[in-house]
Amino acid sequence: MKTRGYMKVTLICPKPTNMNLNSVPIFNFPNQAIYLLASITPLNWDVEIIDENRTPIDFETETDLVALTALSASAPRAYEIAAKFKMRGIPIIMGGIHATVIPDEAAEHVDSVVIGEADEIWPQILNDFEQGRLQRVYKPQLPRSLDIQETREITKTHRVNFINWLPLSLKVTFMQVGRGCPNNCEFCSVTKISGRTLRTKSIPYIIDKIKEEIAKGTDFFFFYDDNIIVNKKFAKELFRAIKPLNIKWMSQADIKIADEDILDLAVEAGMAGILLGLESISENTLGDGVGRVKQRMRPNYENAIKRLHDHNVNVMGALIFGFDHESEDSYAETVEWAIQNKLDIGQFTVLTPLPGTDLSERMKREGRITTLNWTDYDCTHDVVQREKTRTKNLDLIVRMAFRKFYSYGAQLRRFRLPKNLFDLAIRLTNMRLRTVSQSF
Ligand code: SF4
Repeated sequence: MKTRGYMKVTLICPKPTNMNLNSVPIFNFPNQAIYLLASITPLNWDVEIIDENRTPIDFETETDLVALTALSASAPRAYEIAAKFKMRGIPIIMGGIHATVIPDEAAEHVDSVVIGEADEIWPQILNDFEQGRLQRVYKPQLPRSLDIQETREITKTHRVNFINWLPLSLKVTFMQVGRGCPNNCEFCSVTKISGRTLRTKSIPYIIDKIKEEIAKGTDFFFFYDDNIIVNKKFAKELFRAIKPLNIKWMSQADIKIADEDILDLAVEAGMAGILLGLESISENTLGDGVGRVKQRMRPNYENAIKRLHDHNVNVMGALIFGFDHESEDSYAETVEWAIQNKLDIGQFTVLTPLPGTDLSERMKREGRITTLNWTDYDCTHDVVQREKTRTKNLDLIVRMAFRKFYSYGAQLRRFRLPKNLFDLAIRLTNMRLRTVSQSF
């Protein structure tokens, strides 16, 4: 029996069941889609947010509607969750990357599927539900403006514990300033899903939101854009506008962040760390397996990392194993390179043909996909036949890379004196990653 006078939607981000690095905050950011949708939910609705990576799901929760978002690796868990709520007769909507690229599969498990970015259409979906006319599929245009008109205050700040056995945590505000990327790297779905052109929030809007979070006492900002300098003109304007706010932040970028025309601006604006999409240290591999844009950047990798370190910027590097033509020697060389260049954090993943990417289409054409068990699409499991390489067990090689990179010996070789609290937090995260990587 319904006793509430209003409707309630429960927004859920499922936890991928296979993820080994999930317990490490630096690799496990809070899902932003559920917070965003919560913040624009009309006021005649009550909202419950559950990120299963942080909070268990109460399957008995009193709710009128469940909305799920999922990556491919968490899609099977999303379907399990949908089945449990369906047994109670609660309607389910599903969006996110997996439902966007394989809507027919998602539609078998839920009542309604949202293909693409849901921001602009979310109030209409809820209104359709209220009127009893929820559609099977919604396919909105990409939002014209990213200056979200929030209906209620939903936290953008999360306390991030960097290490278990020390009471050291930072209040980190997660914020996105733009979507879309023209680079269209073969393994990445960003260009396909969010478009080739960068769409950004307006600078005054961003500054207002940052000021709001500063007033609430945030310690640190994480701009979770896929590549914050993909449009350098916009990035420069943004950095100039942020500078007077005196904040510290990190984001994701390519190595052009170390170019002379932008590095000082970024550092003066408070950049303390950057996650670099390096992908591979082989120019040929970048050319064949990623794209010409990254290939042209390769000769600058070492200098860029050094320049960032010289500016006291923490450098985290994302490297991928499993491109064609690579051998086990290439992986050992890559880990050694990451240690020699003193990456502060190294992320090693298996090249994965995520649904919706050009890589996935090519692998299908070449008949090389070995499983469609989505739980293995978490970038730590090998799901592709690598007939052109000598590599037998890429899962194990990635685990060995983590173990080597985070071993005490390698940490000593990579050591740089911490310059600030964030630097210290990253050093301690290295210790935690050592423990996690040993238990793989
Ligand atoms: S990997 Fe990075 S640079 Fe390449 S398409 Fe994706 S977001 Fe753009």
